[in-house]
Amino acid sequence: MSTPIRRRPTRQVHVGDCIVGSDAPVVVQSMTNTDTADAEATALQVKELADAGSEVVRITVNSPEAAARVAEIRQRLDDLGCKVPLVGDFHFNGDRLLREYPDCARALAKYRINPGNVGRGAKGDDKFAFMIRTAIEYDKPVRIGVNWGSLDQSLATRLMDENSRSAHPLPPDAIMREALIVSALESADKAIELGLSPDKIILSCKVSHVQDLIAVYRDLGRRCDFPLHLGLTEAGMGSKGIVASTAALAVLLQEGIGDTIRISLTPQPGESRTKEIIVAQEILQTMGLRSFTPLVTACPGCGRTTSTFFQELADRIQTYLRDQMPVWRLQYPGVESLNVAVMGCVVNGPGESKLADIGISLPGTGEVPVAPVYVDGEKTVTLKGEHIAEEFKAIVDHYVASRYGPGGSKRREGAARTIPIRPLA
Ligand code: SF4
Repeated sequence: MSTPIRRRPTRQVHVGDCIVGSDAPVVVQSMTNTDTADAEATALQVKELADAGSEVVRITVNSPEAAARVAEIRQRLDDLGCKVPLVGDFHFNGDRLLREYPDCARALAKYRINPGNVGRGAKGDDKFAFMIRTAIEYDKPVRIGVNWGSLDQSLATRLMDENSRSAHPLPPDAIMREALIVSALESADKAIELGLSPDKIILSCKVSHVQDLIAVYRDLGRRCDFPLHLGLTEAGMGSKGIVASTAALAVLLQEGIGDTIRISLTPQPGESRTKEIIVAQEILQTMGLRSFTPLVTACPGCGRTTSTFFQELADRIQTYLRDQMPVWRLQYPGVESLNVAVMGCVVNGPGESKLADIGISLPGTGEVPVAPVYVDGEKTVTLKGEHIAEEFKAIVDHYVASRYGPGGSKRREGAARTIPIRPLA
């Protein structure tokens, strides 16, 4: 039995129909990279991200042209039957855009405010206050999102000066981490003083290095009860971005810190933006925090497998399962926790296959060319010949329909793999 992860106790914030914080499941977010002024392209990308599993989608609102199209984007999504909450990402001119485009203010489900980019001094305070009052007027939550790359330099200088006068000065990097946290907490205090309910505030303090992110969020989590949005900013491209994000978020999530996550991957030119959602979901699912899509357990292959057949089969089955999910999610509740094993030879094949809900153990080099299939731990059939892939897929289809369809038995006893999550008492 897995040890429950004890979530840090937080308030609960409603972002449209999505609940963030406390004992709500950790929410997966993403962000578009279209020009928001292009309403059609942005709505289509939001829909693509939502279909892939993004539960909240952030869009850039950086210009009058962008702000003028936000309500249309919302309408286009509604017309497509896509209810995903939209978050407006504001920097520098958010106050002006919210003032001049009330339809934009109304259409968004949340405003992201970066205190480092609102402005300095009394002018910055006024702009911040206007954005908070707009959130109050339209009954919207805000994310106060501090970022290492745009930290309020006057605050950093103030803390550095205080530190230099201290009898026990801290190293500069510790002061910079403190500045991020203080920026978020002081901004939240200001928002509450202006009349915003504490139940309308989410915080984030994003940095681009793994150890800094872990240190910042551990500290931030101890010092407030706002839900926290996690993400390693500027994580990078390809495997580096995935590994760095996973390393940081896994540590924090394991400690119960983090109520919503985003994986900030830089896509390859022409690559789908949905990869960041798949990575976010797979972090949560492989940690046993949530289930999104049936996962395939596959062995890496070795000298016992001289063909790539089992790799191709594992890939085909994983892709097939993911592609079915938009329909299966509605037809077969619970199917997202299905486990399928595709193994390369007799060494670990039967064992892993028996542990999965459905498993196939393909023949290795020199083995008899047959592939036993295991269902709920029992060997049911042995496949051979040229149509193993199609026949195995049909077995998966039949299993899903009979187990998760109307009157199905859902999961077999003892197979639950999601770790129970409960808030700290
Ligand atoms: S299951 Fe067989 S083919 Fe796969 S890695 Fe293990 S020994 Fe190699």
